[in-house]
Amino acid sequence: MVATPIGNLGDLSPRARSTLEGADWIAAEDTRVTRKLFAADGNAPRGRMLPLHAHNEHAQAERIVELLRGGAIVALVSDAGTPAISDPGAVVVRAARAAGLPVFAVPGPNAAIAALSVSGLQPHAFLFCGFLPATGERRRTAIESVRRVPAALVFYESPHRIVDSVADLCTVLGGERTVVLARELTKLFESVHQCPLADAVAWLEGDADRRRGEFVLLVDEPAEAPAPEDAQVERVLVELLAELPASRAAHVASRLCGVPRDQAYRLALALKSR
Ligand code: SAM
Repeated sequence: MVATPIGNLGDLSPRARSTLEGADWIAAEDTRVTRKLFAADGNAPRGRMLPLHAHNEHAQAERIVELLRGGAIVALVSDAGTPAISDPGAVVVRAARAAGLPVFAVPGPNAAIAALSVSGLQPHAFLFCGFLPATGERRRTAIESVRRVPAALVFYESPHRIVDSVADLCTVLGGERTVVLARELTKLFESVHQCPLADAVAWLEGDADRRRGEFVLLVDEPAEAPAPEDAQVERVLVELLAELPASRAAHVASRLCGVPRDQAYRLALALKSR
C-alpha cells in the first residue's frame, strides 16, 4: 500500500518511488495519474499497470491475490495520498490477508493528517469522517450523529459542495465551534483559514477563489465536552424518553447507569428541551 503525493510531486518518498519502480504490477486508480509521478524524471516503472477503482475492486482483488500467490510484487496506489483512506484499497488488503499473504505499508502523504498538522488545533482526539453524504437531509443526519463526539471532526469535501456542507455543519453543530478550511494543501494555492462556523459561509462566498480546489474541513472539539458518564447516560435517556415521561426515564436510567437520580433527571429535562 503505497502513499503518493496529494499535490506536490516532491512528496513522493524515496521508498515509495523504489517500491513502485521495483513492483511487477502497479494497481492504480487512474493509470494516467500514476504515470505522471514518473514523468518528471523519465524513470518509467518496469511493472505493468492494473486499473483498480471503486467499481472493479472486488474483481481485481481476486486477480491481485492470484498474482501475489504466483510470487509477484503488487504495489497499490490511489490517485493521491494514502490508499484505502476514502479511496480504493481495503477490499484488496482484506482479500490478501484472508489468503494468508503479507501486506506492507509504504506510508506517506494524507490530506487529513496534513490538514491537522497545519491547523493549529490541539484536540485531545480527532474523528476522521471522510466525505459527508451529498444530499442535504442525509448530510445533516450524518453530522448530527457526530455532534456530541468529544473530538475534533475531520471531513473531506469537494468544491461543488463546500458551501452547502459548511452551512449544514453550522446548522447542526452551532455557529460557535471553530472550523478550519484547509485548501489545496502542498499546491500552489494552498490556504488555511480558521473562523467560527457562523462566519464560514460568508467567508467562502466573499471570493470565488476561496471555493476552488480540494478541501479538508476540520471542526474543533466542542467547547465543553460532556463527561463520559453523561454521554453514556444520555444515550440511554434518548431511548427511554421516546417511551416514558422524563421522571420515569430518569429513574430507569439512574438504575441502569448507576448515576444519581437527580443527575439523570437534570439530563432528561435538558434533552427534552432540545
Ligand atoms: N486517500 C487520500 C488521502 O490520503 O488523503 C484522500 C482521497 S479522497 C478521494 C480526496 C479528497 O481528499 C479530496 O476531495 C479532498 O477532500 C482531500 N484532499 C486530497 N488532496 C488534498 C489537498 N491537496 N488539499 C486538501 N484536501 C485534499
